[in-house]
Amino acid sequence: MNKTLRTPVIAGNWKMNKTASEAEILIKELIPLAENAACETVICVPFTDISTAVTLTKGTKIKVGAQNVHFKASGAFTGEISAKMLTEAGVTYVVIGHSERRQYFNETDLTVNRRTKAALEAGLTVILCVGEMLSEREDGITETVVELQTVAALTGITAEQMKNVIIAYEPVWAIGTGKVATDEQAEEVCAFIRKVLETKYGKETADKTVIQYGGSMNPKNAAGLLAKENIDGGLIGGASLKADDFKALLEAAS
Ligand code: PEP
Repeated sequence: MNKTLRTPVIAGNWKMNKTASEAEILIKELIPLAENAACETVICVPFTDISTAVTLTKGTKIKVGAQNVHFKASGAFTGEISAKMLTEAGVTYVVIGHSERRQYFNETDLTVNRRTKAALEAGLTVILCVGEMLSEREDGITETVVELQTVAALTGITAEQMKNVIIAYEPVWAIGTGKVATDEQAEEVCAFIRKVLETKYGKETADKTVIQYGGSMNPKNAAGLLAKENIDGGLIGGASLKADDFKALLEAAS
């Protein structure tokens, strides 16, 4: 089964939650939970928590991610953070193209592509988010939207660089809404994304790429989703903020 070619990745997206002192409490709870997990464990924290997270997770199985990165190396980009700033701070993963960035901060397929290139060049592993809005699903254009986002984001990215790319399929209508995609809906689109990767990079790269599902994943629905052939973990918002919930997700992925 091709699923065995990939190690699942459970990544928490904390969004704009947890001050550094709050982060310290949660990370200390998460460290022993990640120790026995047979999946990769990543926490994507706010910029102000990076230093705390990197210090506390040193020598543990938890990797630290950021939630965005700018595409320029330096310069007059007030409020932005470069890839080198992240790597020097000890960050190894970064979420790019999250629907909340696309929706509220004018993120486009072009800027997603630029950020992806900059992050990969700096040695970061990219968690690249794609997903359709409810109206797009209702119009029957889910695959068109997801293919466009995926191909646009990966323009100029080589098969070698794909070793450091994770795709997170996140239907926008399921994020933070409690409306989870059914196991079959999620699997259908993740399998489609793998086909898109196969067309662009060939079967070997497609088979090895981790494709996560994200959107109201929680301890109750995780096992069904993660058992699917093409779903290799999750990008998790709300349920990543409570140690007990995150523990259940790590167990489901293991
Ligand atoms: C997310 O932030 O990527 C996400 C999937 O959030 P939630 O799990 O809360 O829906």
